[in-house]
Amino acid sequence: MGKIVGRRGFSKIRLIVQVVSLLLIITSCGETKTVEKPELKPDTIAVVENERFGFDLDEYDVYLDTVRNGWTWGNILLPYKVDQYTINTTALAAKDSTIGLKYILAGKPFTILTKKGDTSRAVQHMIYEPDVFSYITFDFTQDSVEIEKKERPTSIDRKMVSGVIHPNSNLSVELGKSFDSYMMSAAVVDAIEGVYAWSVDFFKLQAGDRFVVYYDEKSVEGKPYAVEQISHAWFEHRDDGMFAFHFTDSAGEVSGFYDHKGREMKRPFLMSPVKFARISSSFNMNRFHPIYKTRKPHLGTDYAAPTGTPILATADGTVSRASRSRGNGIYVKLKHNKVYDTQYLHMSKIADGIRPGVRVKQGQVIGYVGSTGAATGPHVCYRFWKNGRQINHRSEKFPKSEPMKEEVLPEYMKYIEPLKKQLDDEIKTLKDYTPDENENS
Ligand SMILES: [Zn+2]
Repeated sequence: MGKIVGRRGFSKIRLIVQVVSLLLIITSCGETKTVEKPELKPDTIAVVENERFGFDLDEYDVYLDTVRNGWTWGNILLPYKVDQYTINTTALAAKDSTIGLKYILAGKPFTILTKKGDTSRAVQHMIYEPDVFSYITFDFTQDSVEIEKKERPTSIDRKMVSGVIHPNSNLSVELGKSFDSYMMSAAVVDAIEGVYAWSVDFFKLQAGDRFVVYYDEKSVEGKPYAVEQISHAWFEHRDDGMFAFHFTDSAGEVSGFYDHKGREMKRPFLMSPVKFARISSSFNMNRFHPIYKTRKPHLGTDYAAPTGTPILATADGTVSRASRSRGNGIYVKLKHNKVYDTQYLHMSKIADGIRPGVRVKQGQVIGYVGSTGAATGPHVCYRFWKNGRQINHRSEKFPKSEPMKEEVLPEYMKYIEPLKKQLDDEIKTLKDYTPDENENS
């Protein structure tokens, strides 16, 4: 056996992948259909009937298998007539080369290709798949074993989704109608809620609220798996339409979501301390308490969510209490500034490192939903103080953020012009939702 070659040809492959991604972005711009796959023209792609990992599988005998617990390279390769010396050098080369494959892991798939009809099963190629984004090929047909890591073609495509909220529905339900995969629909909901977390109370959505969202979808081998970023969006809540544009200026000084006037979308407080929850009891000065069986004001908002759901700090602040009491159960209280405090009750557990005096950031996990203290089921009771008095945060009007710097504004306005036009055009095609007379919203 001669020398072992590492990652030869890798950069070439990367380049091809990048060109492909770019083409997809260009061809899919201005798309108006939801979840439309980029069109693949048959004459531009050489179709090999049974192609995988760059091999025509019809030309080989193919053995598919999975690494088991405790396996080494020997377990994979010895049955396919590879001698121990070659196994050792191959393992070493895979580890030391830029491929950096240190261990083979149980549960990972591998494929062995042998010459068609070769009853001795002498391996010609082996393909190991460390993750969904790449695979590693081992070529045993040369004097030395050639190892290459290949990235699967990934792409980022601009997509658009729009809709209207129906009675007794919510964003998840409405978006679910546009997606085959629950994972993608949840990712888009999450992204939208992230953009508007400071301006829309997603628990208060009404029939007739409407949205148009352009976002960049990440796919590997044509299969969408994540939202890269929302690019531009419009969300109309109670007849109040709100534009949002993701923008980074050329100097890289400002970055984030801004409205059509260049005001930052970020607000001092998140509207809710938990994601994907429902409000089980609102702020109410005259509530009949399910445990105490008396009328007493409910000075908080209850968000029901499964035990263990992360509870987020709704704003930057300092932990003033991280404690336990009979009624509150396990709870955390945060001081945000001279005016505002927030408190989170009935936790199953306080997050690691959360103790009095510690600084927390907006969106940081401070604890987990539970039902400790006077609680009938898992929920977080969220309490909000203004100047020492408990108030209903859901009816509090917070100040709008400052506009972006004067010198950046012209660049911003120029950047958003075509995007806003795209949204305006799409809004015109959106149907209004007119409630049925018989419908009860
Ligand atoms: Zn409560």
